[in-house]
Amino acid sequence: VIPDLDVMLKAAHEAVSLAARITRAVQRDPQRGHRLTKSDDSPVTIADFAAQAVIADRLSARLGRVTLVAEESARYLRDPAHAAALAACVEATAPVWPGVRAEDLLGAIDVGTTSIPLDASGEPTRSFWTLDPIDGTKGFIRGHQYSLCLAYVHEGVPVVAALACPNLSADVQRPYEDPDPVGLTFLAHAQGPVWVTACDDRHGRLDVLERAHTPAGGPIRLVGSYTAAHNNESTVNRLVRRLEETGVRVQRPQRLDSQVKYAVVARGQADVFLRTPRSAAYRENIWDHAAGSLIARRAGCLATDVLGKDLDFSRGVTLEDNQGIVCGPAGPHGVILGGLAALTTV
Ligand SMILES: [Mg+2]
Repeated sequence: VIPDLDVMLKAAHEAVSLAARITRAVQRDPQRGHRLTKSDDSPVTIADFAAQAVIADRLSARLGRVTLVAEESARYLRDPAHAAALAACVEATAPVWPGVRAEDLLGAIDVGTTSIPLDASGEPTRSFWTLDPIDGTKGFIRGHQYSLCLAYVHEGVPVVAALACPNLSADVQRPYEDPDPVGLTFLAHAQGPVWVTACDDRHGRLDVLERAHTPAGGPIRLVGSYTAAHNNESTVNRLVRRLEETGVRVQRPQRLDSQVKYAVVARGQADVFLRTPRSAAYRENIWDHAAGSLIARRAGCLATDVLGKDLDFSRGVTLEDNQGIVCGPAGPHGVILGGLAALTTV
């Protein structure tokens, strides 16, 4: 069954728009945005939980029962020791979900599962929504860029994407560290262009995004993770040196949190999002790439791993068969892949 892409995209847009209103309010009020720490030591805020709850609730209201694979679970908030955090979540959620109670919020968060559920025949389901309610939580806490990332994966391939970037400006001259008061949301499905619209106005005008291109004669402008641990720095440095030796000019990576990197490549503000594998064993989570990679691909970019393999979203909650990310228009994408291939032989 081919899903109705327009209906799904509309539901996804509404869901991330409402959730972005919460994340924006929490980020502006440091008292409420207090940082919590999950058992795996990763930071999380009340906004991560509130955003997941609102998105799960809105998708369910619009589309009926949904299968959602998402980063957060309600386990932390169900712990009586964290009652204050739960109360803060309910309070943060209420402006977009009037009358929400703690049980509603916990139930909505747990519409999502952190592993791939089994279908009726006992096999891992191949079609599901996947969500990172706040990608770039560290950037969110710092007051920098972050994104709300929702995608629908159909038979292992992302076909609907809603990527809300509440701090990204329509003005490409505005520094990434200077949060925009409006923000942008990027929307795409498998049979259309990329649309861009004001972040928290779900009834705002949708403009078709122009395809990404690289200005002739300039250096290849890289964008990479803010967090050094997400990248193998020495590989990036060797790559840049190697390409420069062969006469290719490369601008060292601008640092940027979250799937906002896919958006800036999609709109041509940077040429290549490069993430080198941080270790041979590390695998990327699907919710960290499903929405962003579809946006970039529909804008005319290629999104592969560092070996040039397509990203395979059918292998579980991680990109089991892929290492690292190279995303950009064909020209610069090919140059970076070629440079990486040459490194492995030296
Ligand atoms: Mg997250």
